[in-house]
Amino acid sequence: MKAQPDELGRHMRSLRISVTDRCDLRCAYCMPSKVYQWLPKRAILSFEEILRLVDAFVAQGVQRVRLTGGEPLLRRGLVDLVQALASRPGVKDLALTTNGTQLARWARPLRDAGLARVTVSLDSLRPSRHAALTRRAVLEDVIAGIRAARDVGFEQLKLNTVVLRDVNEDEIADIVDFAGRMNAQARFIEYMDVGGATGWSTEHVVTRSEILQQLEANCGPLISGEERGVAPAELFTMTDGQCVGVIASTTQPFCRDCDRSRLTADGRWYLCLYDGNGTDLRKMLRDGADTTKLSTCIGEEWRKRQNRGAEERLKVSDRSALYQIEELRRDLRLEMHTRGG
Ligand code: SAM
Ligand code: SF4
Repeated sequence: MKAQPDELGRHMRSLRISVTDRCDLRCAYCMPSKVYQWLPKRAILSFEEILRLVDAFVAQGVQRVRLTGGEPLLRRGLVDLVQALASRPGVKDLALTTNGTQLARWARPLRDAGLARVTVSLDSLRPSRHAALTRRAVLEDVIAGIRAARDVGFEQLKLNTVVLRDVNEDEIADIVDFAGRMNAQARFIEYMDVGGATGWSTEHVVTRSEILQQLEANCGPLISGEERGVAPAELFTMTDGQCVGVIASTTQPFCRDCDRSRLTADGRWYLCLYDGNGTDLRKMLRDGADTTKLSTCIGEEWRKRQNRGAEERLKVSDRSALYQIEELRRDLRLEMHTRGG
């Protein structure tokens, strides 16, 4: 039985699964701390547990699954999980978000296992700037990963760039040009005050309209694409036919259409990126709940959903970072790398 829509009439269609909270990078806007405490190994869901939960979600209407993290390619055996998910008829769309450092090695096996779409995070094309942002000198590996993804022919390849004031806003045109050569869609994301973005301030956000102005100034006129629908990115086509996306999560949030929820690597299910509580599905699983019971619980929780975290944040006057390090230490799941971006 498919889940009823939530309190705001939104259907549950998309599930983002963080397969690990570990990451090999330390992007300043995501993982600000020098020292990290990781989720305990025994708490991390096994592939079998993830698949059981996916079955329960699919029974409630989920059709699209995105694997994320932390860095998902650090999870040992990920290709096996991809293969198992790709062979489930209920999973109509299977995608992965990665920082790209390991992608050159894994692009072919992932494609062969049935992964349809890949998004690679790429905030700069300049080695020293990329290293400063991610705190590791890995740009060459990331570029090799993007090339490998292009060469194996995923159904779609996207590049995500978080645009930060006075950091990488001057690279928008270069990234569009690079994306064109990689047969990829460049997507520019407004800096969000989520999880580990402890240094966030409105001054650091390069807004949708500023991104569009820059695109028009450097790449020529833009034609608005089809309606955004439930997708976060607004699409625009340039005169040469290349398509770019803008994700205005901070200044023009799209909570009203949000069909997504998120599962942490240790089985906590969140109805919104800004959600403070979450449901402990791992406990239910390990206490012996069968798929029907899990699925019923998921459907009931979804029906009560009222979350529209990004819209609520818009109402805050003198808005600043959502959390500081001390709060992140108290609850590891507040962080974006644990929750899965
Ligand atoms: N490690 C993988 C990666 O970097 O693609 C997957 C996990 S990462 C948390 C997923 C996405 O969240 C990345 O594209 C990253 O740029 C984005 N992200 C993290 N913190 C963000 C923030 N404060 N504002 C906007 N996007 C953010
Ligand atoms: Fe960067 Fe992704 Fe790792 Fe966060 S999870 S530090 S965005 S690579």
